[in-house]
Amino acid sequence: MQYVSTRAAASAASQSPQQFSDILLGGLAPDGGLYLPTEYPQVTGAELDAWRKLSYAELAFEILKKFATDIPEADLKALTAKTYTADVYRNAREGEAAADITPLRVLEESKGKKLVLQALSNGPTLAFKDMAMQLLGNLFEYALAKKDAELNIFGATSGDTGSAAEYAMRGKKGIRVFMLSPHKKMSAFQTAQMFSLQDPNILNIAVEGVFDDCQDMVKAVSNDLPFKAKQKIGTVNSINWARVVAQVVYYFRGYLAATTSNDQKVSFTVPSGNFGNICAGHIARMMGLPIAKLVAATNENDVLDEFFRTGVYRVRKSAETYHTSSPSMDISKASNFERFIYDLVGRDAERTRALFTKVETHGGFDLSGYPGSDGDEFTKVAQYGFKSGKSTHQDRLDTIRDVADDYGIVIDTHTADGIKVARENLEPGVTMIVLETALAAKFNETILEALGEDAERPAGFENIEALPQRFVVMSSDVAKMKDYIATNTGL
Ligand SMILES: *Cc1c(COP(=O)(O)O)cnc(C)c1O
Repeated sequence: MQYVSTRAAASAASQSPQQFSDILLGGLAPDGGLYLPTEYPQVTGAELDAWRKLSYAELAFEILKKFATDIPEADLKALTAKTYTADVYRNAREGEAAADITPLRVLEESKGKKLVLQALSNGPTLAFKDMAMQLLGNLFEYALAKKDAELNIFGATSGDTGSAAEYAMRGKKGIRVFMLSPHKKMSAFQTAQMFSLQDPNILNIAVEGVFDDCQDMVKAVSNDLPFKAKQKIGTVNSINWARVVAQVVYYFRGYLAATTSNDQKVSFTVPSGNFGNICAGHIARMMGLPIAKLVAATNENDVLDEFFRTGVYRVRKSAETYHTSSPSMDISKASNFERFIYDLVGRDAERTRALFTKVETHGGFDLSGYPGSDGDEFTKVAQYGFKSGKSTHQDRLDTIRDVADDYGIVIDTHTADGIKVARENLEPGVTMIVLETALAAKFNETILEALGEDAERPAGFENIEALPQRFVVMSSDVAKMKDYIATNTGL
């Protein structure tokens, strides 16, 4: 299996296809595009049948091996077996088989319409990002050991991604994590989750400023290419291809758990921000998984909903990006969206490059087909099964209350956006699976507002705020940051 950039010039000799291991540790392709396989591996009906009885780890191996053809199968099998265990994804709720990594729960079944929730938040940081990040930690350690190399992950977080990365990389040989976060701006729970880690390879830096200051520091340091090379600096952001592939697995798992035969279809509703999660659903569908609809649910930051309703992709400026009660979806620009657009425009790299160059220069593009637009590919969006919807703070409060009253469970704010939009897209005869992206305990303030009581905390998190914390405070000073990195890497 080979990979090309979504912007690779078709004629140029510079278009050198890459293997899975070549792109594993990187982010953007050198030409600014994103990596995709030259073609999607196909899954046969016979394979799907055989996969029905597999454990999650075994299923992950079957899917990964189609994409990571340059990793020996025995190694891949060991890596997936080590990652997807009941120990790591300790089930936070009662009444579900602990060994089932992503259990389904039927919420509603009436008049042929069925609404199901797929739990993806049983990992160490209580959000779905653990599903991919835990595998990434093991893959990175494996790949670095093979090359006798080391990697210093450098990033900024406002909450979820940083903690998922730290819990995936803690104690891993050859890897250090430098994670910037805005000093005193994260919730007490999120802060405690990150700062209570005592592993020597995890370095938390609280920056005196806001999240944008942290991100600016990451950019400034990363733009110093000699420094970046010398310090072996890398990232683990949501465009990382291995993260996307790891997420493909739970779409298969959800389908297989919700159906009894391969002539049945299901739909998925996905709380969306950077388009990473739902992009994995698109890939599962392209591989032949019988998915009817892929519904992108957004919050007030509705860049994606706008595109799927109108064909106009219009990124927002920071000032137009709202801080909402589903903060992990507060994005103004969906970093994985280019992967879908590449397929939508018939895998035409020149055109993809032109469209995303226009995003940089003009803030977006228009595929509606109206006079003056950049194309008419919006008419093809339905062929890919995409639909969308939007949810507001009030919708979240209402949905959290409804779900608590009707089904007796407390969902988080992002999952609430998903359920609100899923309900608008139910169809008779097609099970709708909503992907749960976090547990309620992570966003307790809104739970308190909706229900008048605290969200239940899973075992082991009861007193997390009281644990000793390990972090340094730093002003947003790039020179100091570089010193800090060099001192700690010894490079
Ligand atoms: C990251 C995140 C999302 C958004 O996922 P994308 O892959 O960026 O679309 C939704 N909900 C939660 C809780 C998240 O952490």
